[in-house]
Amino acid sequence: MNLNSIYKLRLFKTPFAAMALIILLVACRQEQEHSAEYFVFGTTVEVKLFGTSGDQANQVFTDLQQMFQDMHRDWHAWEPGRLTRINQSFTDGQTSLADETIVEMIERSQLIEELTEGRFNPAIGGLIRLWGFHTSEYPIIGPPPGQADIDEILIHAPSSRDIHIDGLQLSSDNRYVQLDFGGIAKGYAVDLAMEHIKELGIGSAIVNAGGDLRAMGGHGDRPWRVAIRKPGGGVIGALEVGGDEAVFTSGNYERFRQDKLDRYPHIIDPRSGWPVADVASVTVIASEGVWADAAATALVVAGQSDWPQVARALELDQVLVVDETGVVYLTSKMAQRVRFSENTERVIVGPGATIDP
Ligand code: ADP
Ligand code: MG
Repeated sequence: MNLNSIYKLRLFKTPFAAMALIILLVACRQEQEHSAEYFVFGTTVEVKLFGTSGDQANQVFTDLQQMFQDMHRDWHAWEPGRLTRINQSFTDGQTSLADETIVEMIERSQLIEELTEGRFNPAIGGLIRLWGFHTSEYPIIGPPPGQADIDEILIHAPSSRDIHIDGLQLSSDNRYVQLDFGGIAKGYAVDLAMEHIKELGIGSAIVNAGGDLRAMGGHGDRPWRVAIRKPGGGVIGALEVGGDEAVFTSGNYERFRQDKLDRYPHIIDPRSGWPVADVASVTVIASEGVWADAAATALVVAGQSDWPQVARALELDQVLVVDETGVVYLTSKMAQRVRFSENTERVIVGPGATIDP
């Protein structure tokens, strides 16, 4: 891409040292595409707008900078902020004040937790902390936590459905409820960003949070094209996305605890308290980021045997699963869309391995 100009808008520090949010505004020579990058949620979020004016793009990028900064502050599972205060109130058996975004994520989670029979459960922050996954530094080295500590949380079975919502007031019957939105926040952030872009009357955009994305309209007269990453490196294939849809992948290959030869990935089965490593990655296409993100996490938990059933419960028809040996299983609707890379072998479409009727 030929760049006309690059502006570094602002580099600022927040009270949260881990957060560095940089906007890079890029105006292309054609003056058709405008893009910005933000470093937030431990990843790079790239936003591209197509067919809009530079002034309007500037407006969007400045708004998004503020929005992402607020989300980071309010939703963080371990940096002190609104969510850690809410979690402390649950522990203390007290009522706390949320905001609309947190209430929305809890309500969505309650439904998804029910539909996935507990495989997706954002109330297991206690387990996630116990496993050491409240960090940005991976891999974590060392043995798993003791079974007695895991059991202590499991016995109390924290669930998002223990939370009572009264306006913006939250309370929980269960002191072991600790919210961790790691499996859903990126999806919701992408949705909120896209909604804002739409409200400003822009029809073509992509919001890409490190490969998890939502795309609307197209890039001029062609659709947006995205790659599906291969667990461990490389690309499985490519997809054209547009209209308005979200593509999210959950995997167990990037963030994990390593103990000698054993690897414990960051997605935990809330029912056993142990990480799951049955499938290497799951990619989901859905209309909303929040749904695709949570679903991808739930399907990793569901694993090889149960993912078709859980996908059906979530009314998903576009799913791609890569198992530990690299075999790709996918629904026929997904198969119609993916253009596989030449080195992708052993692709299985159809009954037996999929959710097709
Ligand atoms: P990523 O965005 O890193 O690809 P996911 O979307 O699958 O991964 O989210 C993983 C994160 O979700 C974990 O780091 C943790 O914060 C949280 N999490 C882990 N297990 C579960 C679960 N069973 N249900 C809900 N959230 C989970
Ligand atoms: Mg997820």
